[in-house]
Amino acid sequence: MYPRNQLIKFFIICLMLSLVSACDSGAPTPADKPESDDRTFKHSIFSFGTLIEISIYGVDLQTAERAFEQLEMDFRYMHVTWHPWQRSALSRDNKLIATTEWFSDAPSVRPLIEIAKELAVKSDHLFNPAIGKLIYLWGFKNAEHETGIPPAATDIEKLVVLNPRMDDLELREIQMRSNNPAVLIDLGGFAKGYGINRSMETLKTMGINHAVINAGGDLKVIGRHGNRPWRIGIRHPRIADQVLAYVEVEGEESVFTSGDYERYFIYQDKRYHHIIDPRTGYPANGSQSVTVIHADAALADAAATALFVAGPSDWQRVAQSMGIEDVLLVDANGELHMTESMRKKIQLPGNQPSAKNSSIKSTQAD
Ligand code: AMP
Ligand code: MG
Repeated sequence: MYPRNQLIKFFIICLMLSLVSACDSGAPTPADKPESDDRTFKHSIFSFGTLIEISIYGVDLQTAERAFEQLEMDFRYMHVTWHPWQRSALSRDNKLIATTEWFSDAPSVRPLIEIAKELAVKSDHLFNPAIGKLIYLWGFKNAEHETGIPPAATDIEKLVVLNPRMDDLELREIQMRSNNPAVLIDLGGFAKGYGINRSMETLKTMGINHAVINAGGDLKVIGRHGNRPWRIGIRHPRIADQVLAYVEVEGEESVFTSGDYERYFIYQDKRYHHIIDPRTGYPANGSQSVTVIHADAALADAAATALFVAGPSDWQRVAQSMGIEDVLLVDANGELHMTESMRKKIQLPGNQPSAKNSSIKSTQAD
Protein backbone atom coordinates (compact mmCIF):
# COMPACT_ATOMS: atom_id res chain seq x y z
CA MET A 1 0.00 0.00 0.00
CA TYR A 2 1.30 3.50 -0.81
CA PRO A 3 1.87 5.85 2.17
CA ARG A 4 -1.05 8.31 2.13
CA ASN A 5 0.99 11.43 2.87
CA GLN A 6 3.65 10.52 0.33
CA LEU A 7 0.93 10.06 -2.26
CA ILE A 8 -0.56 13.46 -1.49
CA LYS A 9 2.87 15.10 -1.81
CA PHE A 10 3.44 13.23 -5.07
CA PHE A 11 0.12 14.22 -6.60
CA ILE A 12 0.58 17.88 -5.71
CA ILE A 13 3.87 17.95 -7.60
CA CYS A 14 2.38 15.86 -10.43
CA LEU A 15 -0.49 18.26 -10.69
CA MET A 16 1.88 21.21 -11.02
CA LEU A 17 3.95 19.49 -13.67
CA SER A 18 0.97 18.14 -15.59
CA LEU A 19 -0.72 21.55 -15.59
CA VAL A 20 2.26 22.84 -17.50
CA SER A 21 2.18 19.78 -19.79
CA ALA A 22 -1.54 20.11 -20.42
CA CYS A 23 -1.00 23.71 -21.48
CA ASP A 24 1.29 22.47 -24.25
CA SER A 25 -1.12 20.02 -25.85
CA GLY A 26 -4.53 20.66 -24.36
CA ALA A 27 -4.69 16.96 -23.53
CA PRO A 28 -4.50 15.18 -20.14
CA THR A 29 -1.90 12.43 -19.76
CA PRO A 30 -2.65 9.16 -17.96
CA ALA A 31 0.23 8.15 -15.70
CA ASP A 32 0.14 4.34 -15.81
CA LYS A 33 2.16 3.90 -19.02
CA PRO A 34 4.52 6.02 -21.06
CA GLU A 35 2.42 8.78 -22.54
CA SER A 36 3.27 11.78 -24.62
CA ASP A 37 1.75 15.23 -24.75
CA ASP A 38 3.58 16.31 -27.89
CA ARG A 39 7.01 15.58 -26.54
CA THR A 40 6.76 14.81 -22.82
CA PHE A 41 6.81 11.12 -21.92
CA LYS A 42 5.90 10.04 -18.39
CA HIS A 43 6.32 6.86 -16.43
CA SER A 44 5.79 5.96 -12.76
CA ILE A 45 7.73 3.51 -10.63
CA PHE A 46 7.15 2.52 -6.99
CA SER A 47 10.44 2.58 -5.09
CA PHE A 48 11.98 3.95 -1.86
CA GLY A 49 8.48 3.64 -0.34
CA THR A 50 7.06 6.22 -2.74
CA LEU A 51 5.89 6.81 -6.29
CA ILE A 52 8.63 8.03 -8.59
CA GLU A 53 7.48 9.85 -11.71
CA ILE A 54 9.90 10.33 -14.56
CA SER A 55 9.10 12.95 -17.21
CA ILE A 56 11.26 13.11 -20.31
CA TYR A 57 11.03 15.86 -22.86
CA GLY A 58 12.44 16.25 -26.34
CA VAL A 59 13.35 12.69 -27.39
CA ASP A 60 11.57 9.97 -29.37
CA LEU A 61 9.34 7.35 -27.77
CA GLN A 62 11.89 4.57 -28.23
CA THR A 63 14.57 6.46 -26.28
CA ALA A 64 12.09 7.35 -23.53
CA GLU A 65 10.95 3.72 -23.19
CA ARG A 66 14.52 2.49 -23.00
CA ALA A 67 15.22 5.05 -20.27
CA PHE A 68 12.13 4.07 -18.27
CA GLU A 69 13.09 0.40 -18.42
CA GLN A 70 16.64 1.14 -17.27
CA LEU A 71 15.55 3.43 -14.42
CA GLU A 72 12.95 0.95 -13.24
CA MET A 73 15.68 -1.69 -12.88
CA ASP A 74 18.05 0.79 -11.23
CA PHE A 75 15.55 2.05 -8.66
CA ARG A 76 14.57 -1.51 -7.76
CA TYR A 77 18.24 -2.35 -7.28
CA MET A 78 18.96 0.75 -5.19
CA HIS A 79 15.94 0.16 -2.96
CA VAL A 80 16.89 -3.43 -2.10
CA THR A 81 20.59 -2.59 -1.74
CA TRP A 82 20.23 0.30 0.70
CA HIS A 83 17.43 -0.98 2.90
CA PRO A 84 18.65 -0.61 6.52
CA TRP A 85 17.06 -3.70 8.09
CA GLN A 86 15.50 -5.88 5.43
CA ARG A 87 17.88 -8.33 3.72
CA SER A 88 20.25 -6.01 1.83
CA ALA A 89 23.89 -5.03 1.32
CA LEU A 90 23.41 -2.27 3.90
CA SER A 91 21.80 -4.53 6.51
CA ARG A 92 24.76 -6.91 6.13
CA ASP A 93 27.10 -3.98 6.77
CA ASN A 94 24.98 -3.00 9.76
CA LYS A 95 25.31 -6.48 11.28
CA LEU A 96 29.08 -6.35 10.90
CA ILE A 97 29.30 -2.77 12.18
CA ALA A 98 27.77 -3.99 15.45
CA THR A 99 30.73 -6.38 16.00
CA THR A 100 33.21 -3.42 16.03
CA GLU A 101 35.64 -5.66 14.05
CA TRP A 102 37.13 -4.75 10.66
CA PHE A 103 35.18 -6.24 7.74
CA SER A 104 35.06 -5.96 3.93
CA ASP A 105 32.13 -3.66 3.40
CA ALA A 106 29.65 -3.71 0.52
CA PRO A 107 30.96 -1.86 -2.56
CA SER A 108 27.40 -0.82 -3.45
CA VAL A 109 27.10 1.01 -0.13
CA ARG A 110 30.60 2.48 0.30
CA PRO A 111 30.12 5.63 -1.87
CA LEU A 112 27.06 6.60 0.15
CA ILE A 113 28.90 6.06 3.44
CA GLU A 114 31.75 8.28 2.27
CA ILE A 115 29.43 11.10 1.23
CA ALA A 116 27.26 10.69 4.34
CA LYS A 117 30.34 10.99 6.58
CA GLU A 118 31.24 14.32 4.95
CA LEU A 119 27.70 15.67 5.05
CA ALA A 120 27.28 14.64 8.69
CA VAL A 121 30.35 16.67 9.67
CA LYS A 122 29.24 19.69 7.61
CA SER A 123 25.80 19.59 9.23
CA ASP A 124 27.31 19.47 12.72
CA HIS A 125 25.86 15.92 12.94
CA LEU A 126 22.26 17.11 12.70
CA PHE A 127 22.16 15.00 9.55
CA ASN A 128 23.18 11.78 11.23
CA PRO A 129 22.51 8.51 9.38
CA ALA A 130 24.23 6.60 12.23
CA ILE A 131 21.08 6.89 14.41
CA GLY A 132 19.32 3.95 12.73
CA LYS A 133 18.65 2.31 16.12
CA LEU A 134 16.74 5.39 17.28
CA ILE A 135 14.76 5.51 14.05
CA TYR A 136 13.94 1.82 14.43
CA LEU A 137 12.94 2.39 18.07
CA TRP A 138 10.56 5.15 17.00
CA GLY A 139 8.91 2.63 14.68
CA PHE A 140 8.95 4.72 11.49
CA LYS A 141 10.24 1.83 9.46
CA ASN A 142 6.94 1.44 7.61
CA ALA A 143 4.56 3.97 6.10
CA GLU A 144 2.01 3.56 8.88
CA HIS A 145 3.33 3.73 12.43
CA GLU A 146 3.03 0.36 14.14
CA THR A 147 1.79 1.29 17.61
CA GLY A 148 0.93 5.00 17.56
CA ILE A 149 2.68 5.31 20.94
CA PRO A 150 6.11 6.92 21.55
CA PRO A 151 8.86 4.63 22.87
CA ALA A 152 9.79 4.66 26.57
CA ALA A 153 11.93 7.68 27.54
CA THR A 154 14.49 5.38 29.16
CA ASP A 155 14.98 3.43 25.90
CA ILE A 156 15.51 6.69 23.97
CA GLU A 157 17.95 7.99 26.58
CA LYS A 158 19.99 4.76 26.49
CA LEU A 159 20.63 5.23 22.76
CA VAL A 160 21.25 8.99 22.94
CA VAL A 161 24.03 8.64 25.54
CA LEU A 162 25.84 6.14 23.30
CA ASN A 163 26.07 9.03 20.79
CA PRO A 164 26.30 7.08 17.49
CA ARG A 165 27.89 9.19 14.73
CA MET A 166 29.26 8.76 11.23
CA ASP A 167 32.66 9.66 12.72
CA ASP A 168 32.58 6.35 14.57
CA LEU A 169 33.08 4.58 11.24
CA GLU A 170 36.69 4.08 10.15
CA LEU A 171 37.39 3.28 6.49
CA ARG A 172 40.55 1.76 5.03
CA GLU A 173 40.82 0.39 1.50
CA ILE A 174 38.02 -2.18 1.16
CA GLN A 175 37.40 -2.42 4.88
CA MET A 176 35.33 -0.67 7.48
CA ARG A 177 34.86 -0.82 11.22
CA SER A 178 32.87 1.04 13.81
CA ASN A 179 34.36 1.89 17.15
CA ASN A 180 30.83 2.32 18.50
CA PRO A 181 28.48 -0.71 18.47
CA ALA A 182 25.48 1.63 18.78
CA VAL A 183 25.90 2.74 15.15
CA LEU A 184 23.23 1.48 12.75
CA ILE A 185 23.23 3.16 9.36
CA ASP A 186 19.89 4.41 7.99
CA LEU A 187 20.30 6.23 4.68
CA GLY A 188 16.63 7.32 4.55
CA GLY A 189 17.64 10.99 4.90
CA PHE A 190 19.56 11.13 1.62
CA ALA A 191 19.56 7.86 -0.38
CA LYS A 192 16.65 9.08 -2.50
CA GLY A 193 18.65 12.16 -3.47
CA TYR A 194 21.74 10.09 -4.21
CA GLY A 195 19.65 7.67 -6.30
CA ILE A 196 18.04 10.51 -8.24
CA ASN A 197 21.47 12.01 -9.01
CA ARG A 198 22.59 8.66 -10.39
CA SER A 199 19.44 8.15 -12.41
CA MET A 200 19.74 11.61 -13.91
CA GLU A 201 23.32 10.80 -14.97
CA THR A 202 21.97 7.64 -16.63
CA LEU A 203 19.41 9.68 -18.58
CA LYS A 204 22.16 12.03 -19.75
CA THR A 205 24.23 9.13 -21.07
CA MET A 206 21.19 8.19 -23.20
CA GLY A 207 21.21 11.62 -24.82
CA ILE A 208 18.31 12.92 -22.69
CA ASN A 209 18.83 16.57 -21.79
CA HIS A 210 15.39 17.63 -20.53
CA ALA A 211 13.80 15.61 -17.73
CA VAL A 212 12.30 15.53 -14.25
CA ILE A 213 12.65 12.71 -11.73
CA ASN A 214 10.07 13.30 -9.01
CA ALA A 215 10.16 10.95 -6.02
CA GLY A 216 7.07 11.73 -3.95
CA GLY A 217 7.61 15.47 -4.29
CA ASP A 218 11.40 15.46 -3.96
CA LEU A 219 12.76 16.03 -7.43
CA LYS A 220 15.56 16.89 -9.78
CA VAL A 221 15.25 18.55 -13.17
CA ILE A 222 17.61 18.94 -16.09
CA GLY A 223 17.12 21.25 -19.05
CA ARG A 224 13.82 22.97 -19.77
CA HIS A 225 10.24 22.06 -20.54
CA GLY A 226 10.20 23.22 -24.12
CA ASN A 227 10.52 26.98 -24.20
CA ARG A 228 9.97 27.49 -20.47
CA PRO A 229 11.45 26.34 -17.14
CA TRP A 230 9.93 23.47 -15.15
CA ARG A 231 7.35 24.85 -12.69
CA ILE A 232 7.25 23.20 -9.28
CA GLY A 233 4.67 23.55 -6.48
CA ILE A 234 5.88 23.20 -2.90
CA ARG A 235 3.09 21.89 -0.71
CA HIS A 236 1.73 23.60 2.33
CA PRO A 237 2.81 21.60 5.40
CA ARG A 238 -0.60 21.83 7.06
CA ILE A 239 -3.08 21.95 4.17
CA ALA A 240 -2.68 18.85 2.05
CA ASP A 241 -4.15 20.16 -1.19
CA GLN A 242 -2.69 23.67 -1.01
CA VAL A 243 0.49 24.90 -2.62
CA LEU A 244 2.66 26.99 -0.31
CA ALA A 245 4.90 28.36 -3.05
CA TYR A 246 5.87 27.89 -6.67
CA VAL A 247 9.38 27.81 -7.98
CA GLU A 248 10.61 27.70 -11.58
CA VAL A 249 13.76 25.70 -12.17
CA GLU A 250 15.85 24.79 -15.18
CA GLY A 251 19.32 23.58 -16.06
CA GLU A 252 20.34 21.23 -13.27
CA GLU A 253 18.40 21.78 -10.04
CA SER A 254 16.92 19.67 -7.25
CA VAL A 255 14.06 20.66 -4.97
CA PHE A 256 13.89 18.64 -1.75
CA THR A 257 11.51 19.04 1.18
CA SER A 258 11.60 17.46 4.63
CA GLY A 259 8.28 17.73 6.44
CA ASP A 260 6.68 16.61 9.69
CA TYR A 261 3.54 15.64 7.72
CA GLU A 262 5.16 12.80 5.80
CA ARG A 263 5.26 10.09 8.46
CA TYR A 264 3.76 10.83 11.84
CA PHE A 265 1.28 9.87 14.50
CA ILE A 266 -0.62 11.92 17.06
CA TYR A 267 -0.40 10.75 20.66
CA GLN A 268 -2.13 12.68 23.44
CA ASP A 269 -2.62 15.68 21.09
CA LYS A 270 1.08 15.83 20.20
CA ARG A 271 2.55 15.12 16.76
CA TYR A 272 5.43 12.62 16.63
CA HIS A 273 7.13 12.43 13.24
CA HIS A 274 10.04 10.69 11.54
CA ILE A 275 12.81 13.33 11.57
CA ILE A 276 14.77 12.75 14.75
CA ASP A 277 16.99 15.25 16.54
CA PRO A 278 20.08 13.14 17.34
CA ARG A 279 20.81 15.34 20.39
CA THR A 280 17.52 14.55 22.15
CA GLY A 281 16.40 11.31 20.50
CA TYR A 282 12.96 12.87 19.91
CA PRO A 283 11.36 14.22 16.71
CA ALA A 284 12.79 17.68 16.01
CA ASN A 285 10.19 20.22 17.08
CA GLY A 286 11.09 23.62 15.59
CA SER A 287 9.92 23.16 11.99
CA GLN A 288 6.94 22.00 9.95
CA SER A 289 8.86 21.78 6.68
CA VAL A 290 12.13 22.77 5.05
CA THR A 291 12.68 23.06 1.29
CA VAL A 292 16.16 23.24 -0.21
CA ILE A 293 17.16 23.89 -3.83
CA HIS A 294 20.59 22.77 -5.04
CA ALA A 295 22.04 21.17 -8.18
CA ASP A 296 23.21 18.13 -6.18
CA ALA A 297 20.14 16.10 -5.13
CA ALA A 298 22.02 14.10 -2.47
CA LEU A 299 23.19 17.31 -0.82
CA ALA A 300 19.74 18.92 -1.11
CA ASP A 301 18.16 15.83 0.48
CA ALA A 302 20.64 15.67 3.39
CA ALA A 303 20.45 19.43 3.91
CA ALA A 304 16.63 19.49 4.04
CA THR A 305 16.79 16.88 6.82
CA ALA A 306 19.61 18.68 8.69
CA LEU A 307 17.98 22.13 8.45
CA PHE A 308 14.68 20.70 9.62
CA VAL A 309 16.49 19.51 12.76
CA ALA A 310 18.37 22.82 13.10
CA GLY A 311 15.04 24.67 13.15
CA PRO A 312 14.31 28.42 12.93
CA SER A 313 17.09 29.50 15.31
CA ASP A 314 20.00 27.61 13.78
CA TRP A 315 19.21 26.86 10.11
CA GLN A 316 21.29 29.73 8.72
CA ARG A 317 24.49 28.55 10.41
CA VAL A 318 24.00 24.96 9.19
CA ALA A 319 22.99 26.03 5.66
CA GLN A 320 26.16 28.08 5.37
CA SER A 321 28.33 25.26 6.62
CA MET A 322 26.69 22.83 4.14
CA GLY A 323 27.08 25.29 1.24
CA ILE A 324 23.33 25.76 0.71
CA GLU A 325 21.99 29.08 -0.60
CA ASP A 326 18.31 28.37 -1.26
CA VAL A 327 16.26 27.53 1.83
CA LEU A 328 12.59 27.94 2.73
CA LEU A 329 11.70 26.94 6.30
CA VAL A 330 8.20 26.87 7.78
CA ASP A 331 8.57 27.00 11.54
CA ALA A 332 6.34 25.34 14.15
CA ASN A 333 4.08 28.45 14.18
CA GLY A 334 3.63 28.44 10.42
CA GLU A 335 5.94 31.41 9.93
CA LEU A 336 8.15 31.40 6.83
CA HIS A 337 11.91 31.93 6.94
CA MET A 338 14.00 32.04 3.79
CA THR A 339 17.28 33.11 2.33
CA GLU A 340 17.48 36.17 0.11
CA SER A 341 18.32 33.95 -2.83
CA MET A 342 15.23 31.75 -2.24
CA ARG A 343 13.03 34.82 -1.94
CA LYS A 344 14.03 35.80 -5.47
CA LYS A 345 13.15 32.34 -6.81
CA ILE A 346 9.75 31.58 -5.29
CA GLN A 347 6.28 32.90 -5.95
CA LEU A 348 3.74 32.79 -3.16
CA PRO A 349 0.28 32.12 -4.61
CA GLY A 350 -2.86 34.16 -3.94
CA ASN A 351 -3.12 36.50 -1.02
CA GLN A 352 -0.02 35.54 0.93
CA PRO A 353 1.92 38.56 2.19
CA SER A 354 5.21 39.21 0.47
CA ALA A 355 8.52 38.47 2.17
CA LYS A 356 10.06 41.03 4.50
CA ASN A 357 13.63 40.54 5.64
CA SER A 358 14.15 36.80 6.06
CA SER A 359 10.83 36.05 7.74
CA ILE A 360 7.17 36.47 6.76
CA LYS A 361 3.89 35.17 8.15
CA SER A 362 2.30 32.30 6.40
CA THR A 363 -1.42 32.68 5.71
CA GLN A 364 -2.23 29.39 7.36
CA ALA A 365 -1.11 27.70 10.55
CA ASP A 366 -2.92 25.35 12.87
P1 AMP B 1 13.83 13.15 4.88
O1 AMP B 1 12.40 12.95 4.52
O2 AMP B 1 14.77 13.26 3.72
O3 AMP B 1 14.03 14.26 5.86
O4 AMP B 1 14.33 11.82 5.59
C1 AMP B 1 13.71 11.33 6.74
C2 AMP B 1 14.27 9.97 7.00
O5 AMP B 1 15.67 10.09 7.32
C3 AMP B 1 13.63 9.28 8.19
O6 AMP B 1 12.52 8.49 7.79
C4 AMP B 1 14.78 8.44 8.71
O7 AMP B 1 14.91 7.26 7.94
C5 AMP B 1 15.99 9.31 8.44
N1 AMP B 1 16.33 10.27 9.52
C6 AMP B 1 15.54 10.73 10.53
N2 AMP B 1 16.20 11.65 11.27
C7 AMP B 1 17.43 11.79 10.70
C8 AMP B 1 18.58 12.59 11.00
N3 AMP B 1 18.60 13.45 12.01
N4 AMP B 1 19.67 12.45 10.19
C9 AMP B 1 19.68 11.59 9.15
N5 AMP B 1 18.63 10.81 8.82
C10 AMP B 1 17.51 10.91 9.58
MG1 MG C 1 16.41 14.35 3.36
